[in-house]
Formats: sequence, C-alpha cells, structure tokens
Amino acid sequence: MITTSYHTHSRYCDGQGEIVDYVRFALDHGFTSIGASSHGTMPFANTYTIPAERLAAYCATVRQLAAEYQGQIAIALGAELDVIPRYRQYIVEHVVPQQFDYFIGSVHHIGEDPQSGEPWEFDAGEDEFLRGLNDWYRGDIRQVVKDFYALERVVPNFMPGVAIAGHMDRIKKYNLRDRYFSEDDAWYRAEVEETLAAYAVTDIIVELNTAGWRHAINSPYPSPWIVQRCHDLGIRMQINTDAHRPEHLIADLERAVAVLRAAGYGEQWVRRDNTWVAEAL
Ligand SMILES: [Zn+2]
Ligand SMILES: [Zn+2]
Repeated sequence: MITTSYHTHSRYCDGQGEIVDYVRFALDHGFTSIGASSHGTMPFANTYTIPAERLAAYCATVRQLAAEYQGQIAIALGAELDVIPRYRQYIVEHVVPQQFDYFIGSVHHIGEDPQSGEPWEFDAGEDEFLRGLNDWYRGDIRQVVKDFYALERVVPNFMPGVAIAGHMDRIKKYNLRDRYFSEDDAWYRAEVEETLAAYAVTDIIVELNTAGWRHAINSPYPSPWIVQRCHDLGIRMQINTDAHRPEHLIADLERAVAVLRAAGYGEQWVRRDNTWVAEAL
C-alpha cells in the first residue's frame, strides 16, 4: 500500500485547492508523508509557476502545516523545477534561498520560441507541440526527442537538492498510437538508454508518475519497458501521482505498484526523518 506522495500541486501554482486540502485528504487515506511540490518560480511570463511575489507565502504555508501536523503526517517542502539551463542562475538566486527539503527536476521546455525568445513549452497542448515541431524543428521529431533527453540527462546535476527526476519520458505525451515515433525504434531506445546510464551513476530517484494514465496517451511516465530498464540498472524509483487536485493523490496507485513489481521492484524510495530511504512496496 502506498502512503506517500512527493509530487503535488495546489492553487499556489496550477493545481486546485489549498495545500491543507491535500494534507487532509492524505490523512484520510492513511498517508504517512507528503511533499508539496508546486512549480518553482521562473523569470518568464506564465500561468503555471508560483508567482515570485507568492513564493515566500508558499514556503511559509508548507512549513506551518508541517509543524501543525507533526506526529500525524510528515510534510516536506518541495518544488518542481523546470530544468532550463539558462535559468539555472535565476533559480539559484530566487528560489533556492527559501531552503527547500527537496526538488523535482522536470523538463517541460526544449528549444526556443523564435518570437518570444523564451523556451518552447512542448507539453502545453498538442497544438503547441505541433507548432514547435513544425515551425521551429521543421518536422524533425528525432531532433526534438534528442534535445528533450539531452536535458533529461542534466536533471540529476541541475541543482543541489534535486532528488527526483519528474516524468522522465514526457516527450511521449502526444504520441498516441505512435503518431510521431515508435518507442521500439533503435534511435529512441538509444536516447533512453543514454539517459538511464547517466542516472545510474547518481542517487537520483526516477518517479513512476501516474498522470500519464489520466492523459490521452494512457501510459505512465515512464513506460513500463523503461521501468524494467531502471530495475536492470539499479536505479531508485518512487511512485507519484502528480496531483493537481486532492483526489489525484490516490489515482492509479495499484496499477503503479503492479508496474514496479512486474519490473522486479520490491521497494520504493520515500522520505523518512528528512532523508530518502528504501521501503517495501
Ligand atoms: Zn511536470
Ligand atoms: Zn507536476
């Protein structure tokens, strides 16, 4: 039984509900620990990250809840960071000083929008995906995938405190029925293998993110064959639901456990006494 969740959003970013709503839902479902991981503030205009002027309030709210619920449920202060190398220094200066317990490193952007000069948010709807693929990459899906995984390889060393690689094959989000590529293609597998090799020499925890089952692709991030390769390589894993509303905290947990077990995992990595440890599934 899964009683932990480290990838959660709330109204501080693009989720619904107060953080305390997630905490209460978690308690009602026997959870022992939870991490708040709203999208970390970024310097460009957007509607999904914590606005700069609310970052301190977000952190204060999580810390206050952690104190209030001490002894009932462990609450960690996290953030999901966009792994965009050119904004690394901004994050170091504006986000890191709030002293987070952990970060999730996620790739939602690759390349650049020539009009705005900002990174291309490839997973912001299929129209936007197609716009970048066709207008800026001239239909070269292989280059898009290569650029995506090149950034995924940066995740473990992007920033001290990055403990979790978020939805590591997110680039498949709109790849229904192999519309853009096949995960069986040798070139695709080579990109994944190179990424896993980079992860295997670090302590990074790869999450099994159940949100993919709520998306049209209807497949977890990463795909089960990648979970199998993670197991072969001794990579740590953890189940998360990427909750954008409290009910998501328990979405597809049994399915996720089945995927991990089928790959040979008997444990997942969880946070106990402020450190990450393996715990039986
Ligand atoms: Zn994400
Ligand atoms: Zn998320």
